[in-house]
Amino acid sequence: MAYKIDADACVGCGSCAAECPVECIKEKDGKFVINPDECLECGACAGACPVGAPALDA
Ligand code: SF4
Ligand code: SF4
Repeated sequence: MAYKIDADACVGCGSCAAECPVECIKEKDGKFVINPDECLECGACAGACPVGAPALDA
C-alpha cells in the first residue's frame, strides 16, 4: 500500500512534496506524483494538501 495523488484534484502547489519525509513526491507535467515504492504511508502529504488529493491507494 501507498498513498496516491488524484491527478484530477491536484493543483500542483507542491505542499505535499515539501512535507514528505522521504522525498518520494515529484513534480511531473504540473502535477505531483508519489513513488509507491518509497512511500511510508505516513499521511503527511494528505495533511498538507489543500484539496485532499492524496489518499491511501487500496
Ligand atoms: S504518505 Fe508520507 S511517505 Fe508517503 S508520499 Fe505521503 S508524505 Fe511521503
Ligand atoms: S499538496 Fe495537493 S494540490 Fe498540492 S501538489 Fe500536493 S497533491 Fe497537488
